[in-house]
Amino acid sequence: MLEFSESTYTQRKTLFVEVILPLAISRNYTYRVPFEMNNAVAVGKRVVVQFGKSKLYTAVVAAITEHAPKKYEAKYIIEILDDNPVVTEGQLKFWSWLSEYYMCNEGEVMNAALPSALKLASETKVMLNKDFEYDKASLNDKEYLITEALSIQPELTISDIVKLLGQKTVLPILKTLFEKNIVNISEEVSERYKPRRRTYITINPAYHNQDSLRELFAILEKRAPKQADAVLAYIKLSRQQKIVSKNELIEESGSGESSIKSLIEKEVFFAEDRNVSRLGHDDSEAINEFTLSAAQQLALEEVNRSFGDKDVVLLHGITSSGKTQIYIRLIEQMVATGKQVLYLLPEIALTTHIIERLRMYFGSDIGVYHSRFNDNERVEVWQKVLNNEYKVVLGARSSVFLPFSDLGLIIVDEEHETSYKQYDPAPRYNARDAAIYLANMHQGKVLLGSATPSFETYYNARVHKYGLVNLSERFGGVQLPTIEVVSISEELKRKTMQSHFTSVLMADMALALEAKEQVILFQNRRGYAPVLMCRVCAYTPKCINCDVSLTYHKHSGKLHCHYCGYKEDSPSICPACGSTHLEYKGFGTEKVEDELSVLLPDVKLARMDLDTTRSRNSLQIILNNLEEKKIDILVGTQMVAKGLDFADVTVIGIINADSLLKYPDYRANERSYQMLAQVSGRAGRRDKQGKVVIQTYDPNHRVIKQVIENDYLDLYLTEMEERKSFKYPPYYRIINLDIKHKNAEVLYNQAEYLANELRKHFGDRVIGPEPPLINRIRNYYIKSIMLKFERDTISIVKAKAIVRDVITQFQTTKLSKGSIVQPDVDPY
Ligand code: ADP
Ligand code: ZN
Ligand code: ZN
Repeated sequence: MLEFSESTYTQRKTLFVEVILPLAISRNYTYRVPFEMNNAVAVGKRVVVQFGKSKLYTAVVAAITEHAPKKYEAKYIIEILDDNPVVTEGQLKFWSWLSEYYMCNEGEVMNAALPSALKLASETKVMLNKDFEYDKASLNDKEYLITEALSIQPELTISDIVKLLGQKTVLPILKTLFEKNIVNISEEVSERYKPRRRTYITINPAYHNQDSLRELFAILEKRAPKQADAVLAYIKLSRQQKIVSKNELIEESGSGESSIKSLIEKEVFFAEDRNVSRLGHDDSEAINEFTLSAAQQLALEEVNRSFGDKDVVLLHGITSSGKTQIYIRLIEQMVATGKQVLYLLPEIALTTHIIERLRMYFGSDIGVYHSRFNDNERVEVWQKVLNNEYKVVLGARSSVFLPFSDLGLIIVDEEHETSYKQYDPAPRYNARDAAIYLANMHQGKVLLGSATPSFETYYNARVHKYGLVNLSERFGGVQLPTIEVVSISEELKRKTMQSHFTSVLMADMALALEAKEQVILFQNRRGYAPVLMCRVCAYTPKCINCDVSLTYHKHSGKLHCHYCGYKEDSPSICPACGSTHLEYKGFGTEKVEDELSVLLPDVKLARMDLDTTRSRNSLQIILNNLEEKKIDILVGTQMVAKGLDFADVTVIGIINADSLLKYPDYRANERSYQMLAQVSGRAGRRDKQGKVVIQTYDPNHRVIKQVIENDYLDLYLTEMEERKSFKYPPYYRIINLDIKHKNAEVLYNQAEYLANELRKHFGDRVIGPEPPLINRIRNYYIKSIMLKFERDTISIVKAKAIVRDVITQFQTTKLSKGSIVQPDVDPY
């Protein structure tokens, strides 16, 4: 049937492909397709191409044409890696939109989108030419060293040889060896992803018959008792489970590998290698029933009604109102229509807790995708989404890049979360906003959920661009926690503070602990003390690479830079004046935990911050311990604010609210409200009302009042006045340009030049250049230029095109040498 069209293909046509390379280059390149690959080449397949002098890369085919590039001669593609496309045309469109919107290159988007196992490593390998005899005496020392090494180890990479010889320039030596025909050089790309395979055992159907089995058994018992054990073990296991793996069999029988091998040789057992899921879930689909409360049911109906005429709906539901259960109902509805669902959560909230909760309803139909997974696991999810095996994906921000084919609904839980925005490297995208575009491409719907929506989202809901549904009671009718604000200065005056804890917080913690309840303490800084200061000359140690003071970590005994990872020993005498009067100022989570352990020696303490959750399972262990009540008091940074749902947490202490409220940023009040309301929301989530203690030097702060009264609308209305008069989002769109250079003076000139060029087009919409809060990171000085565009009257597409032109023009000047310009669209 298709033969006719195939024969038309075989006409000798010259094809070219436009490919996306995984590099920060500003355009796509065109390569020529060798004739014999004409039939195999397709949009979305990966190809190996040479770029630059000798480097090989995996690129993705974005388009096929019959037109040769005009300005350069196209090189041939070297290889096609895929039988079927791994990137869909929809994804390519999405990548292209992201690169336009966020002002970056498609290659950068590709880098973020593809798991690295789908991008191949280019490694030059060198091996001996086995077909050639050579005279060892003719070699010089270095040549000899290389050939000796190659006779022991068949392949060496260029970097191995660099190490071996202890010198950088090894290519000329290799070139001679190559010309003398002694070695072969192969630029080889190796596919790194291998599905995990496991051997499964089945019994020969001949022994399904009881008599023949008994017969077999009688023989084996006499001659090979170990094999008899293996057969017994197989029968036992196969009664309990559908499939039996070789490893399980070895473990169950204690018979050892060789017995099983013999049985396979005798054709008693059959062995079969199969790919197994790395995600380790079984197929038992436990269906767990629940009923929505009246308020939840009403909210669900309103969401559905709202989807009738809106593509995006905001579910504004207070903490513990049971938004997740509403999501589950929405997912069920969508899965029933056969469409896919993406459920986005902030990375940190993606714990087994929520995963298990969803698996209860959706069994193995649900895929999970986040950065704590290794690459092979990510490729597996990628493939299953591509093959439509997963109907529901639960994932962190990067799961917007998965190859969906028919996305009916995206849920963005905690939509206000800053972690949806990727800051470094490019693409500097916001997954919430990207999700709205993505859903639109699929003609699907988006549900944004939050107790404390971002102002952008709330604004869109109030102007009826988005639907808005409110859910203002907690599930089970539990009250929101009571909040008590305690003045630190008062308690200091009365001398009732114990270390960093007010008498109020100490008393509330004591009550909770007595009742066998749990406590969470929030402190917005990690480490022990953020500043070490000399009392004589006020010297403070700073990072050698960045413009920040170093944080003391008691655990390591060192001063750490939180921006570049630099560490040094903490000095015991002041390097500036020689005084020994050094003191620690300020305090982080480590110090809070430390002092608590002195004040409450019998209490089980734990800490949750970046330092304690670096390794793969550490976060999970802390959460399990909290669940199993092996922790009485958990001290943590903003991590503790995110979605934790534990029944016995009744008291929350905010050690110092001022560090949030005083942050120099136009969003400080919005952020502080979100943080305080979210942390408070962890208390009293089941049957008992919780208690929150906010410690502050500024108890009359407006935002604290708004938190106490749970008055989000009041916060929103007052803040929006300021946003309007000071020209900030949501009324204005912001694009930040960070310019970086190693030399401060050069940077100054570059930044001034760029700002002036931009002013020619945009006038006083250009602000700066100004040094950012931290004006040197990793030895690069930084200047920021801020652009503000009226949301309603300026075409942002046109404005971006001009900004792009100005940057490109700047990059052709001599002045731009050594500079990095990073646009950040909708900075967060
Ligand atoms: P939110 O995300 O709005 O903060 P959750 O969805 O985590 O709230 O719900 C809070 C708690 O109430 C959870 O432990 C959840 O299991 C429980 N819950 C919510 N709705 C129901 C329901 N309809 N039936 C049973 N339990 C529910
Ligand atoms: Zn000093
Ligand atoms: Zn640093």
